[in-house]
Amino acid sequence: MLNSVFLFNNSSVSRATSLARRFRRSTNQGEKMSMVFCRGCGKEIHETAVTCPNCGAPQGTPKEASNSDKRILPAALLCFFLGVFGIHRFYVGKIGTGILQLLTFGGLGIWALIDFIMIVVGSFTDKDGNTINLWT
Ligand SMILES: [Zn+2]
Repeated sequence: MLNSVFLFNNSSVSRATSLARRFRRSTNQGEKMSMVFCRGCGKEIHETAVTCPNCGAPQGTPKEASNSDKRILPAALLCFFLGVFGIHRFYVGKIGTGILQLLTFGGLGIWALIDFIMIVVGSFTDKDGNTINLWT
């Protein structure tokens, strides 16, 4: 009885390792898919490469560097429902102007409305000046 349990475990372990090996092979194929072309020389390089191994050209996308970690959707919802209290500005870290909006009821709604439009079109910035241009 004990022996058969051991045999069962042993076979399931070997099945698991073969599955893991197959999975690893499929992820290797996935890595091949995520190749990009160098900005400097056009050679195919991995997308996570910071610099090109061929010519040394930097590959960092400047747009990503200025992206905020805040998202449009929560900011837009907060601005829509609680914009006159400046809650969306607290969300992006603009505490000073958030308090100012809170005291002026969002500039009598006009300031909050402008903010809402800015958020939706992806032109709103967080406290570090990074553009909030991703929805989720
Ligand atoms: Zn290159």
